[in-house]
Amino acid sequence: MSRLGISLPSPVQKLDPGWPGCESLQLWIKRDDLIHPVISGNKWRKLKYALLDGLCAQVGEIVSFGGGHSNHLHALGYCCWKLGIQLTALIRGDYRHQPTPMLQDLKAWGAQVRYLDKQHYRRRTEPDFLQQLQHVHPHALIIPEGGSQPQALPGVGELLNELEQDVTHILLPVGSGGTLAGLIRARCRAQLIGIAVLRGRGYLEQEVMDLVSDPGACDWQICHDFHFGGYAKAPAPLRDFCRHFSLQTGLPVEPVYSGKLFFALKSLCQSGFFPAGSKVLALHTGGLQGKRIGSE
Ligand SMILES: *Cc1c(COP(=O)(O)O)cnc(C)c1O
Repeated sequence: MSRLGISLPSPVQKLDPGWPGCESLQLWIKRDDLIHPVISGNKWRKLKYALLDGLCAQVGEIVSFGGGHSNHLHALGYCCWKLGIQLTALIRGDYRHQPTPMLQDLKAWGAQVRYLDKQHYRRRTEPDFLQQLQHVHPHALIIPEGGSQPQALPGVGELLNELEQDVTHILLPVGSGGTLAGLIRARCRAQLIGIAVLRGRGYLEQEVMDLVSDPGACDWQICHDFHFGGYAKAPAPLRDFCRHFSLQTGLPVEPVYSGKLFFALKSLCQSGFFPAGSKVLALHTGGLQGKRIGSE
């Protein structure tokens, strides 16, 4: 694994944005975006044990799923290339004529890329579909979309052991719910506030509860006010915020995950959500290849 050049623990930095409403709060950022230049922060944490087990079992092939911009596939593609494992990437939609930068990277790293139409892609979690897939790739390890599977949770939980300061709240973006589930499973003592980056009220909560066996073990909630219309939707106010926030703080953000996270942090500070004296940690989950979406 040392071949990958992972840099942990990720640093925790103070954030002093001078926003109204945060005078009596302490704000911190955990920079999981700095874990690796290519392997996006939380994707590394989620993949770690799947890859370790795969290496131990001398798995020669991994099959996984994602959209044309998937951070999960990007991270996995790079890991597989470095570790000498064949990746087969099943992509939602057909990009044959217009491969995204992410897909170009995957191909450069030797991945097999296959395109599924929406009907087939929708079946990606169905047992008989997975059985067929396993039949076609008999020795492959199949990893679900986003890398979110029970095996992903311990790697995520490890980030809590890296914290040296006590915090009262942890804010993090929620896509498939695996990262939030990992923190719940690790019985995080801070209040967890997931910021949904897609429209998924009810659905996302269920995804999280399906992943953890003891969802009542800690105080968590998902806030649905900051998805800006859906996954990868980036209307002008969000893009303006990202630009301004990056200029002001020097922190790299993109509109798909971290932009929505920090926008939410600012709004929650402003609305008095956090009691005075709160110590709030925002988890920068990385994903900066998402910045390329706007520049295509
Ligand atoms: C995938 C991703 C998330 C979402 O994590 P989930 O575990 O799917 O909820 C958040 N941030 C970034 C940068 C991601 O790439």
